[in-house]
Amino acid sequence: MKKLFFSGWKSLILSLAASAVLSFPVSAASIHGEITNVGSQTITGWAWNKEDTNDVQTVEVHILQAGNPEPVKYLKTEADDFSQELEDEIRDGWHKFSVSIDWSQLEGNDFKVRAYAVKGDKYYTLGETISYSKGSGSSASSAKSTAASSNASAQDTAPSSTQAQSTAAASDTSGLTSLGIFTTSGYCGCQQCSKGQGLTYSGAVPQPNHTISADLTLLPLGTRVQIGGVVYTVEDTGSGIKGNSIDIYYTDHNAAHAHGLQQQEVFLVQ
Ligand SMILES: [Zn+2]
Repeated sequence: MKKLFFSGWKSLILSLAASAVLSFPVSAASIHGEITNVGSQTITGWAWNKEDTNDVQTVEVHILQAGNPEPVKYLKTEADDFSQELEDEIRDGWHKFSVSIDWSQLEGNDFKVRAYAVKGDKYYTLGETISYSKGSGSSASSAKSTAASSNASAQDTAPSSTQAQSTAAASDTSGLTSLGIFTTSGYCGCQQCSKGQGLTYSGAVPQPNHTISADLTLLPLGTRVQIGGVVYTVEDTGSGIKGNSIDIYYTDHNAAHAHGLQQQEVFLVQ
């Protein structure tokens, strides 16, 4: 259906060249972090590059709602605050981030919160997606972490949530087989992404939150996988999609572009 999986090789190459000046590339494995708390007024977490502790991480927090692949809010900050817990865990406390959030400005009640360390065009997922409900607060602090254990303190808990309420049904990956970390990107049916072809390789009409394009030698047509709490079906492929790459279909080009390139764990749904 399509050749390019991003906003065009030219801009990709240009931005990679620009990033190279800023001591790029960084291996995904060296970026660590997670959301430690989603509260009624602030979202906190940490992010660091274990290969270069002077490398301050730019963090984007995305607020999502069910049924809408495009975040309803983007929050950006630097992970350069001090945290005693981090100091105790990794001997370097200056990697905490904190962003203010006014939930009352957002319509609806139930949200998913994701955080990424952003380097050029690359998005490194920080820990797990956290659920937040206006009524009951955060689903939980992240269950596990990679560098520091997740006993970072949970200050700023929502007033009504004395007990964490788990609403993470969709992002529950227990019992699923991990296929490993894939580079995910976004595309739509436009001329630029797909040469304007309306149908997928399989012949199905592409649908958001459903259709993905994959390397069919790895993931045959019809394979169902879970990425970021959403179950997708392989219905498409493209010449640029090889190996551990997945292109996620969006209705809107801006939303596809906003996906950027992310390193995400992919789970097989049987
Ligand atoms: Zn497009």
